Amino acid sequence: MLTITTLKQILAEPKSIVITTHYKPDGDALGSSLAMLLWLKAHGHQARLIVPSDYPSFLAWMPHQEEAIIYTENKALADKLIAASDLIFCLDFNGLARTHDMQPILSTSQATKVMIDHHLDPEGFDQFRHWNPESAATAYLVYDFIVNLLDDRSSITPEIATCLYTGIMTDTGSFRFQSTTVEVHLAIADLISLGAKNAEIHERVYNSSSENRLKFLGFCLLNRLVVLHEYNTAYFAITKEDLTRFNIVTGDTEGLVNYALSISGIKLAALIIDRTYQIKLSLRSVGTFPANEICAKYFNGGGHRNAAGGHDDHPLERVVEKFKAVLPAYKEQLMDN
Ligand code: 5GP
Ligand code: MN
Repeated sequence: MLTITTLKQILAEPKSIVITTHYKPDGDALGSSLAMLLWLKAHGHQARLIVPSDYPSFLAWMPHQEEAIIYTENKALADKLIAASDLIFCLDFNGLARTHDMQPILSTSQATKVMIDHHLDPEGFDQFRHWNPESAATAYLVYDFIVNLLDDRSSITPEIATCLYTGIMTDTGSFRFQSTTVEVHLAIADLISLGAKNAEIHERVYNSSSENRLKFLGFCLLNRLVVLHEYNTAYFAITKEDLTRFNIVTGDTEGLVNYALSISGIKLAALIIDRTYQIKLSLRSVGTFPANEICAKYFNGGGHRNAAGGHDDHPLERVVEKFKAVLPAYKEQLMDN
């Protein structure tokens, strides 16, 4: 592993740098990546952001997001940039498989990989690591990296502050989750003082639903929510026909799982969606219940204790049955008050 002193020396000369993040970037992934992109460009580097896939339209206002190269849509250029890069900043993921189609090129690349992340059990693809699994957001770690490790708070422009604010806001459920520490509030306050317009950011992210999306939410609440009282568990199972019927696009299902969790007494919530190429699961839990353990053990995934995800290649009904079959093993924890 490189030390911060060595990394600083490397960054003292202009470098070719690629920044990347996980498949279907969320606010934290995109916010961290754009902040890093802007910081690196401001320090004389040739930096480009390559994202593995598209991202939700509620993030499509973020400063400089239009500069992001979407890997699957521009593979030749992206591969060329990766091959020519001295450094690759890997933000908000702990294993190369989370970049989907970018995994092969990233794993063979000889570039120095800098990982800034807050997911448990990093795979170890990196040569420099700023990592803390207790951190609320990767964007908080990017803030900490710039302010404390690089001692460069004065380089945080209003645009960078906006990107970091958005990342922390989305990954903490608007400063609601247990991960929202005093340090997080202090960082947020500092980002506002550095030019992040907080009310505007909340408005852009949370009040930008399409009419379809809201109707889809109503449909799911009425027709797709199943509550298993005997396990304090609630889930939605969404078919591909549901997605087509409401014209659902990337980002439209974000937050849906939280409605299942909002029922009084519910400890575990799941959103199980037929994405055609595979079934995607999103799990949320309260307290000490390990949603990530279920995802890692049974659904090829992982994540945080209270927010985890995974996938399965079987048909939707079978995945739902499998999910329900897992619950008896956790009955005691789920019923514990
Ligand atoms: P979401 O449910 O919002 O897709 O993901 C919640 C969290 O679960 C993410 O922040 C990530 O840590 C984790 N996660 C989601 N999908 C996967 C997956 O396929 N594999 C792994 N290892 N983690 C995932
Ligand atoms: Mn994150």
